[in-house]
Amino acid sequence: MTAEPITLVAKNPYELRVDLGARVSEGDVRSALASGDMGFLHSYTTGSAVDGPGVRVVAWTSGCMWRCRYCHNPDTWKIGNGLPVSVARAAEELKKYVHGLSVMSGGFTLSGGEPLMQARFASKLVAAAKKMGVHTVIETNGYFGSRLTDAELGNIDLVMLGIKTWGEERHKDLTGVDEAPTLDFARRLAALKRPLWIRFVLVPGLTDDPAVATGIAEFAAGLGNVQRVDVLPFHQMGRYKWEALGLPYSLNQVEPPSDASLSATVAIFRSHGLTAH
Ligand code: SF4
Repeated sequence: MTAEPITLVAKNPYELRVDLGARVSEGDVRSALASGDMGFLHSYTTGSAVDGPGVRVVAWTSGCMWRCRYCHNPDTWKIGNGLPVSVARAAEELKKYVHGLSVMSGGFTLSGGEPLMQARFASKLVAAAKKMGVHTVIETNGYFGSRLTDAELGNIDLVMLGIKTWGEERHKDLTGVDEAPTLDFARRLAALKRPLWIRFVLVPGLTDDPAVATGIAEFAAGLGNVQRVDVLPFHQMGRYKWEALGLPYSLNQVEPPSDASLSATVAIFRSHGLTAH
């Protein structure tokens, strides 16, 4: 029996993928991160309609230092779970779709994991896409936003920023890290007048206190560059990955939010003058 070849194309967004880069030495990982000529991709997909404007090619990087309790892709946390890919190779693949993406008013989205864990690679890949005339999006938690220069940010047409909750204590409990770098990155994008979408996951019992949406809404409305807020319902599609990876999952009993709770949350954002869905 022959082994199935490793492919970067995801069968679906919730496919478990581990150890694709297991044969890459730590030294090679370090030099790839430093130069950015090579990066680690967990998977990619074409034809996504939910990762930015229009229809998009999306590449998911591996590596994330956050530990969100609702993360549906914990297999992206370890950088070595991704496959090493050179910028040149990734750009060559993207080139196949340039015409179609322009017809469908779409573009290229780099997501994760956390793409700015590999900031050099992310910057080079986005610059390559931009050079081809492709609209570019980075979907990030913003923690490492300071790793990009203002000029590099100029190559990103839209940042989709995950704001997970509101308040230092809640943020630490939900993600394991401080919220300040994410908020600082949002402020910096505002000062640079770079377009920003905010993504917020509504999790019953965890982020559905109206004080959370109100805090984020007040902050977002004050920035002046937020074009849209997406309120995303929590789901359990990634739970099996936590089990497969032997990770303790704390949300076993949590159901997706009700339509009423989703609408009420969207209404909070709208009441602050924001476009929200
Ligand atoms: S930032 Fe994203 S990839 Fe990282 S743990 Fe949180 S949800 Fe998962």
